[in-house]
Amino acid sequence: MKDKKRKTEWTYWTDKVAKEVKERVSKNPILKKIVKERGYIVYDEKTPSGKIHVGSARGWIIHDCIAKAMRQQGMNAKFILSSDDIDPFDGLPKDMDAKKFKPFLGVPLRNVPSPVTGYSSFADYFFRQCVEKFDEFGIEAEIESTGSRYDNGDFNKWTKIALDNADKIQKIYQRIYGDTAASEKLPFQPICEKCGKIGTTFAYEWDPKREVVKYTCKPDMVEWAQGCGHKGEVSPYDGNGKLPWKVEWAAKWPVVGVTYESAGKDHFTKGGSRTVSVAISCEVFKFPPPYPSTCENIGKGYEFFLVSGKKMSTSKGIGVSFVEMSEMMPPQLLRFLMVKSRPETTIDFSPEGDTIPFLFNEFDRIERIYFGLKKVDERGKTNAKRIYELSAIAELPKQKPFRISFDFASMLAQALPKDRRLERSIQILKRTGHLDRELTDFERDELKKRLDYAELWAKEFAPENMRVTLLKEIPDAVMGKLSDKQKSALKNLGEFLKASRTDSDIWSMVRVVAKKEGIDTKEVFQAAYIMLLGRPYGPRLIPFIQSLDEDFVAKRFLLKK
Ligand SMILES: [Zn+2]
Repeated sequence: MKDKKRKTEWTYWTDKVAKEVKERVSKNPILKKIVKERGYIVYDEKTPSGKIHVGSARGWIIHDCIAKAMRQQGMNAKFILSSDDIDPFDGLPKDMDAKKFKPFLGVPLRNVPSPVTGYSSFADYFFRQCVEKFDEFGIEAEIESTGSRYDNGDFNKWTKIALDNADKIQKIYQRIYGDTAASEKLPFQPICEKCGKIGTTFAYEWDPKREVVKYTCKPDMVEWAQGCGHKGEVSPYDGNGKLPWKVEWAAKWPVVGVTYESAGKDHFTKGGSRTVSVAISCEVFKFPPPYPSTCENIGKGYEFFLVSGKKMSTSKGIGVSFVEMSEMMPPQLLRFLMVKSRPETTIDFSPEGDTIPFLFNEFDRIERIYFGLKKVDERGKTNAKRIYELSAIAELPKQKPFRISFDFASMLAQALPKDRRLERSIQILKRTGHLDRELTDFERDELKKRLDYAELWAKEFAPENMRVTLLKEIPDAVMGKLSDKQKSALKNLGEFLKASRTDSDIWSMVRVVAKKEGIDTKEVFQAAYIMLLGRPYGPRLIPFIQSLDEDFVAKRFLLKK
């Protein structure tokens, strides 16, 4: 009986993952011990080499949701986001002072000065730009620095294992990339003691007895930075250098005790970094790689977040940054978009046209389902519940908050003077029968935000027909565009609109006046648009009329100049 019931239950993807991680840990003694000591660690990392693009935010939100889902299942879980600040500075972001920053190419990002005062380094500046937004996005993450982990000696044990097993690691590279691509380098990148660069050093000998590596700082090691030629010998421990990326990724799993870490799908390809890291983790470090990978199957990463169809890249400086994106639309809506899109689907976002209104409408729909105001099947209900809960950036409201449609908000935002917009909107909503009580502080705040974003959207991204500039007075040319029947119908409508009316009353009246003149309702609409906007089309007429001052509309329809 129980099994039968389970089959009809629908589990949201985050909850399914949380459950699978729990099961996996319960079956593995290494993981079991780690989780007992540190809890379930959900981990992600980012190299702060410039503006961080919104695609990275998809990963953070996925990881945040998984950690939340785990906690909701009673698991002691947290999301840790690490700044890979010991990675080399490998390219100048555009808009950056080339003369000042060029000498730092090759230096660990945490040792490059910040482009803006008030931050400890280049890495600190770019990483904090994002992290400071986390509250707005409801992302709960513990932040750490990979460089500090090295300084603290956390990587020492795994650095020694990597260096002792350099042959084995080389064989893994050979197996995955073929003989020609095999690297002869030791799996360690020292920081040059003379010039401070990490991107230019070549370690060629490991002395396991004295525990030192010999290296050269090569002038021609990489194209983007020049080494100083220094030859040296250094201990590979305590922050004197780092493991190469794919080895480092594998080492982080035991260092931090990671049980879940996903990444973009490009890492999960046959020759992708995840494939190499999983092999190193299993064969060299003897540590089970985090979900969704196992030693047998690396699993799948999440799909890209595209803006206007183009994959964004941090290093090339194209696309929209996370911070810029968060100014374009409410953070909660961006979070909502990422939560509702399953990780295996590409998000192709274009701020132009209807995308933003569509998202607002979709959010409102999910909210109505959550509060039981819209009937859907069980699966739809579970999805809506989890999407709504996981999209939350603060405590969930106890009952459905009052909202207006985004379309209506965009009309109010365009029609009303900004300084009195909120109060005037509330008056209009009461007058037109949309609102019959006082708003709570939360609702007022939400309404204000919606009006602000609607204004921005109307200005920047709205299609022509949604943009509204009222005619200040009626030019004669406009009057000439109307037939006598249209004029007469409008006058009748104008009389009716002298008093406050509900949407459905106005709609009925449009039909009455059209019938009286023997014209189509469409002709009444066109006449109304011409009188208000000087063109025969516009946003949905009735909400539009309702967003305007009633005396103004009545007078205009009575054709009074
Ligand atoms: Zn050097």
